[in-house]
Amino acid sequence: MNKITLGDRCFELFIPHSEIDKAIAEVAQAINREYENNCLMLLITLNGAIVFAADLLKQLTVDCRISCIKLSSYSGTECTHTIKDLIGLTEDLTNQRVLIIEDIVDTGNTYAYIVDILKNQNVKDIKIATMIFKPDAYKHSLPVHFVGLPIPDKFIVGRGLDYNGTGRNLIDIYQVCE
Ligand code: 5GP
Ligand code: MG
Repeated sequence: MNKITLGDRCFELFIPHSEIDKAIAEVAQAINREYENNCLMLLITLNGAIVFAADLLKQLTVDCRISCIKLSSYSGTECTHTIKDLIGLTEDLTNQRVLIIEDIVDTGNTYAYIVDILKNQNVKDIKIATMIFKPDAYKHSLPVHFVGLPIPDKFIVGRGLDYNGTGRNLIDIYQVCE
């Protein structure tokens, strides 16, 4: 199906599943090479990254554990600034090699927040693997280590990415109709 409707928006096929699967297999191989003979802690960011994480995990041969985290936003009572809080992290990360698993890196604000929160946890190192990266929208200088597919600055859905909560289950990736 080349065009679909989610809520009030039309989306058109953008990246077929075969291409996404190939990109994920390459990311898995790169991670297996990088962390050979190491223990790895994967921090899977809910909700969007669960589909990518499941596809990736099946192809990892390195010794790894997982923890699911969520960056929740709430507004402070005294100012309009959004405060972010990392929930779900119960593991001790001391001396661990940590790999953040993201569905998409857009501005990079989420990634930067997570790194900022983890920097006091005495980790050995922190890297990121993302299924999709939008280099034109990226506003930070932190390196994005493992990238499945770089895309232009377009709004996409599918493979865990949603539009108002729907579309996460789509096997292909769709972009909003132009
Ligand atoms: P950031 O700008 O912090 O890198 O990305 C924040 C979050 O915005 C992502 O984790 C994702 O949930 C959402 N996001 C960014 N770009 C897209 C997109 O093209 N499609 C969807 N569905 N979500 C996106
Ligand atoms: Mg995400």
